Amino acid sequence: MADKLLRALAFDKQIRVYVVDATQMVAEAQQRHKTWHTATAALGRTLVATTLLAGTLKGDDRITVEILGDGPIGHIVADGNASGDIRGYVANPEVALALNADGKLDVAAAVGLPGTLVIRKYIGDSEPFSGQVPLISGELAEDFTYYMALSEQTPSSIGLSVLVDTDETVKVAGGFMIQVMPGATEETIATLENRLAKLGRFSDLLDKGLTLEMLLGELVGEDQYEILTETAVRFYCDCSKERFAKSLMSVGRQELEAMIHEDHGAEVVCHFCNEHYQFNEAELQALID
Ligand SMILES: [Zn+2]
Repeated sequence: MADKLLRALAFDKQIRVYVVDATQMVAEAQQRHKTWHTATAALGRTLVATTLLAGTLKGDDRITVEILGDGPIGHIVADGNASGDIRGYVANPEVALALNADGKLDVAAAVGLPGTLVIRKYIGDSEPFSGQVPLISGELAEDFTYYMALSEQTPSSIGLSVLVDTDETVKVAGGFMIQVMPGATEETIATLENRLAKLGRFSDLLDKGLTLEMLLGELVGEDQYEILTETAVRFYCDCSKERFAKSLMSVGRQELEAMIHEDHGAEVVCHFCNEHYQFNEAELQALID
């Protein structure tokens, strides 16, 4: 099943719901960056959250997410756009910690407090909107929920879930974001809280083969929602050799000459997708010329 994001309204438009299956996206991120399981979960949850937040954007709008913790994985960076193209990386992909007390991947320990969650939104031609909050848990869903409440004044409930298989590959990944609109009744909120308390792990439900429509039903009730849009989402990086050639030209003639005479070529690596680009001596000389 291809990855996708559904946007829906529920409870007579009092609630906005986003649900995403990002299994292939997170699987590709794991393969590209060769992350170990705890890093996979941390990066995967960040990619799922970025997809959900990008789902609130329109047109050419973009979002950048940075998680700057104090733990062994270092920083996590992800970005995405309204079309569902998402990419991201973690500073140290080789982190595999013991499971936490609940028997789950210890994302909080890998991220490490204290830390900061920074979000930038590039909307239209205006100055980017930037918000940041301290990390309060490091498990990330709570941190994004806190960000939505504090920085965007939108009460939300966010679930981010990544299931890593014993061979380090990603079994399923996905999540949801429920936003309470102004004017939502106490009754609606209480009903939702009840349903969420009984939901269980989102990745377990995906793993059981539930479709996103069925998951929407689990979240808000089978006959309570109306789907607005469906967007295909994927891991996608728009880097290219031409783009890196341009940035190589900006390092200056001396540096380029050193690459030719001392290193006999250059290799540039894209942080976001871990693609390696080779430039031979002739190509570097062409940049100088
Ligand atoms: Zn790239």
